[in-house]
Amino acid sequence: MGETLAGAALIDGKAFAETLRARVGAAAGAFAQATGRKPGLAVVLVGEDPASQVYVGAKGKACAAAGMASFEHRLPADTSEAALLSLVERLNQDEAVDGILVQLPLPAHLDEQAIIAAIHPDKDVDGFHVINAGRLAVGQEGFVPCTPLGCIMLLKDRLGDLSGLEAVVIGRSNIVGKPMAQLLTDANATVTIAHSRTKNLPEVVRRADIVVAAVGRPEMVKADWIKPGATVIDVGINRLPPEEGKPRGRLVGDVAFAEVAGVAGAITPVPGGVGPMTIAVLLRNTLVAAHTHAGLPAPEGL
Ligand code: NAD
Repeated sequence: MGETLAGAALIDGKAFAETLRARVGAAAGAFAQATGRKPGLAVVLVGEDPASQVYVGAKGKACAAAGMASFEHRLPADTSEAALLSLVERLNQDEAVDGILVQLPLPAHLDEQAIIAAIHPDKDVDGFHVINAGRLAVGQEGFVPCTPLGCIMLLKDRLGDLSGLEAVVIGRSNIVGKPMAQLLTDANATVTIAHSRTKNLPEVVRRADIVVAAVGRPEMVKADWIKPGATVIDVGINRLPPEEGKPRGRLVGDVAFAEVAGVAGAITPVPGGVGPMTIAVLLRNTLVAAHTHAGLPAPEGL
């Protein structure tokens, strides 16, 4: 992947994601020809969180662009748990719906785990259901959360075989850090999970050939934490306070990009790195769900 910075190659997640979306689009067209219907994704948004509204809108547009059907359900913030569970159950039964995504975070009165548990595991294209987490843990086929799956695609594209490489994942969340560590282990890397209680974090990170930062702290990872030539994947999306005269602050990752680019071998930018991969992988997972649902073999090369 092309452009070089002061030393580091730029890992162009945006370009990779566009290619993936085109492949998914072609396969979705073939699916529609074979079955007479488009792959369908239902997205449920409860409340008016501005970031969630942007994500849900982007997911709907991406579906349409890939030749998939998108079903949006926007519910008021005071929706009861019973009403939300009953919608999820309806979507579980709906033959036109292959994937169900409930946008998180949910308003505080709703139990996220209970809602996720109600989604049929074979429609759980976010890969958050315990059945899919368990499938990943024991190496069975299942849905893997979109962000870490996108990261491993970028890493394999960049590095090829990851066998024996030292990988440090900073962050242990269920949606990024933990599944990321499992995917790296499955790819035969030697994996360390670092987190808020890790001692001597810079020293731990300096061991890594691969660093995945998924913390949510702006520009935390510094140049002197990085082994020269390491590959750095920055999952973080943080908005800085606005500079004077600007309505909104800049978006930055968990990695101090400008300085780390002087030491790393390759690095993802923010924005334009991991972010675009997440939606592309969501489409990919929905396409796989549609094939399973229709009793067809999963399309190859995705
Ligand atoms: P989270 O808050 O659930 O988890 C953060 C993790 O960071 C925790 O496991 C915690 O132990 C660790 N941590 C916190 N402070 C630390 C410190 N000082 N040192 C080391 N570790 C520390 O967050 P998440 O949902 O995993 O998301 C992480 C980041 O990734 C956020 O910025 C989020 O916005 C972003 N994100 C991006 C995408 C994408 O599409 N690019 C998707 C999901 C999340």
